[in-house]
Amino acid sequence: MALNVLIVDDSGVMRAMIKKTMLMSGLPLGEVYQAGNGKDGLEILNQNWIDLVVVDINMPVMNGEEMLSQMRENPGTKDIPVVVISTEGSQTRIERLIKKGASFIQKPFSPELIRDIVKEITGIGGDDEPPVK
Ligand SMILES: [Mg+2]
Repeated sequence: MALNVLIVDDSGVMRAMIKKTMLMSGLPLGEVYQAGNGKDGLEILNQNWIDLVVVDINMPVMNGEEMLSQMRENPGTKDIPVVVISTEGSQTRIERLIKKGASFIQKPFSPELIRDIVKEITGIGGDDEPPVK
């Protein structure tokens, strides 16, 4: 099974780095969609099958926390796993995101950490995954 991923970050460089990191980590990626803010991200979510959302917090138009909240209110997107990748340092905010069911990764991040968290929340992926039964 390949993961269709949506990467939402206002920095194109960061989106490319996250994508590259996920490819390097051996995760079985399918389509990789990208958006520069939460509003555009929600539009892509509503038009495509997405298995995993990786989202920044601080973005113009709509930030990652608002995007996560709107996803959780929509029956079509409420169960999609979300990983927040941010420089965010506020523990209160991080806890709020986790309460909404997101995983949190602090920037800068390692490929291994992304791989391990994605494997944990999706149950698939990575180099050491046993062959499909
Ligand atoms: Mg940002």
